[in-house]
Amino acid sequence: MASLQARHSRSCNLGRPWTTFAEATKQKGCTCTPLYHVVLRRDGRLVREPVGHNRKEAERALDARRGDVARRAYRVLDDVRFDDWADRWLAGFTGKQNTRRVYEDTLPVGGADRLAHPVGAGNSNSSLSSRNPSALAPLLLG
Ligand SMILES: [Zn+2]
Repeated sequence: MASLQARHSRSCNLGRPWTTFAEATKQKGCTCTPLYHVVLRRDGRLVREPVGHNRKEAERALDARRGDVARRAYRVLDDVRFDDWADRWLAGFTGKQNTRRVYEDTLPVGGADRLAHPVGAGNSNSSLSSRNPSALAPLLLG
């Protein structure tokens, strides 16, 4: 969303080069004639466009920019949709690896629980395995 910022001269009592439009008033301590800028994001970068020293003109310029942004919405939405699609595709791709890793981490424990009886049948470790199925995990991972 576009907004207005003011660029102050070095001699300004505000002591900051940039303030918001609302702060760039004599009541707030500004002692210079700031140059107003419409600030917007274009292709992910912050862009400041000088729009003169007149507050009313600056506000009109901002309104005009917002109109431009609204007209650009169609194209921007398309861009977002593509990014979203790309993100989803990437998420799906890494998700499979994550799922496999989770399986690798958790399956031995769960498997040991299920396998405790068949594996432990007639085995001297069976009682230990039944009480603590995760004790089998290192064996299955090995
Ligand atoms: Zn100032």
